[in-house]
Amino acid sequence: MVEETIFTKIINREIPADIVYEDDHALAFKDINPQAPVHLLIIPKKAIATINDIEEEDAGLVGHLYLVASKLAVQFGFAKDGYRCVMNCNEHGGQSVYHIHLHLLAGKPLGWPPY
Ligand code: 5GP
Repeated sequence: MVEETIFTKIINREIPADIVYEDDHALAFKDINPQAPVHLLIIPKKAIATINDIEEEDAGLVGHLYLVASKLAVQFGFAKDGYRCVMNCNEHGGQSVYHIHLHLLAGKPLGWPPY
């Protein structure tokens, strides 16, 4: 069984979040500690702990997170200027919440590489 995280509580409305998108399979909300002028988190409603735990049957679901990202980019008006989608994995990747999530960062030119 996957351990419950703060993101499950957000999905279940047990704690508040600034939700910007929801459908049957995914939820998107503003990051509580934004690292760019726009910093959204796009998560599957299915709790998958890390990228390492994604299974074949989840391929469509993970792809769906990117489709949500592109819709939000249009909705928020930064599709043309550009943006970054990042999914961190485990300690060296900088993951702190063990329910996979796509960071969507936008609103300024973003630096690269990320160190
Ligand atoms: P990670 O470090 O796992 O890649 O990203 C986790 C992200 O979740 C961080 O950017 C952090 O600011 C955000 N976060 C952690 N707890 C909460 C919360 O309770 N609400 C919201 N909206 N974001 C959170």
